[in-house]
Amino acid sequence: MKNYLLTPGPTPVPPASLEAMARPIIHHRTPQFQAILKEVEEGLKYVFQTKNDVLIFASSGTGAMEGAVASLLSPGDKAIVVRGGKFGERWGELCEAYGIEFAAIDVEWGKAVDPLEIKKILEGQATSDKRQGIKAVYVTLCETSTGVTTDIEAIARITKAQQAVLVVDAISALGAVPLKTDEWGIDVVVSGSQKGLMIPPGLAFVSLSPKAQDLAQKSKLPKYYFDFKAYKKSIEKNDTPYTPAVNLIIGLNEALRMIIKEGLENIISRHQKHARAVRTAMKALGLELFAPDVYSDAVTSVRVPEGVDGTKLVKTMRDTHGVAIAGGQAQLKGKIFRIATMGHITADDLRVGIDTLETVLLESGYKFEKGAGLKALEKILEQ
Ligand SMILES: *Cc1c(COP(=O)(O)O)cnc(C)c1O
Repeated sequence: MKNYLLTPGPTPVPPASLEAMARPIIHHRTPQFQAILKEVEEGLKYVFQTKNDVLIFASSGTGAMEGAVASLLSPGDKAIVVRGGKFGERWGELCEAYGIEFAAIDVEWGKAVDPLEIKKILEGQATSDKRQGIKAVYVTLCETSTGVTTDIEAIARITKAQQAVLVVDAISALGAVPLKTDEWGIDVVVSGSQKGLMIPPGLAFVSLSPKAQDLAQKSKLPKYYFDFKAYKKSIEKNDTPYTPAVNLIIGLNEALRMIIKEGLENIISRHQKHARAVRTAMKALGLELFAPDVYSDAVTSVRVPEGVDGTKLVKTMRDTHGVAIAGGQAQLKGKIFRIATMGHITADDLRVGIDTLETVLLESGYKFEKGAGLKALEKILEQ
């Protein structure tokens, strides 16, 4: 059975990266590796759309999220956390783990935060003692658990005028949807390797604006591995403080070459088209989108129709047909399924995915005209 990966991470890894990662390992304190690291750094700056250094960690994305709390803040600092899904909640859990008090903005799952809510809280504390104020705003660009995109550009317009830094979880968004770090004025962008960057799990990334670098210099929360200062100092010398994930970085270099060759604009258009094709196919099957107004082009969330067992649907697609999609998490378990369109997921992968979804939906008793989804998908893909 051939396996298809249509999950929002990990995503398929292109052959050029797989082949590069399979080569005999080299030592990291060598001119050979330094040349690769330099090229990777340039490529990351391009994808992050920033002139600032991008720090590289050997961890999953959550490691860099943890760093974005531990390495930026000090005891007594306050934060704002937007919670509209599992990953927004993770920002809150990280703040709790480090004893950081935060104002939570709880957003209904499937909806996006109104940037004005952030503005209200930030301006409400503007008159009080600055040292006591809010130092960071933690948000999620694509909330992968709900398939929602947040208007980061609007939030950055608000935070730019404030002492607080804007920290964006772009783990599933980077290289999939528009993200203009410097132009929009985002202070910290966090990402990972196994989504839009098309590499296996194991690398995490952080970009820091000068405002965020300042905060990192002053940060007093306990930390060691994720201390941003050490990585910043090393990357300036084209080096890493500890042993980097050598082969993953070599694989990433190939993936970044592909990204540069295709061009970020073209990649984003491709994601838009593929996600639109999936949404159109879902509607043609009479299915309802979970986030119809604030959908993400990285992952599409769809309501499981009445009478269908959502957990079984995902399991049957994977175990009987070799097509992995994602189910719902936490309170959405069994209620939605999610089809990713990020990274190296191709049009052909989507054809197989939608065809299999139709097969399994029919088997489960859900009624529609067989082939309607695939036909709708194809119509958009042909454009
Ligand atoms: C995948 C994902 C994470 C978690 O990343 P890990 O690599 O599993 O630690 C965090 N936030 C978002 C938005 C994600 O999509």
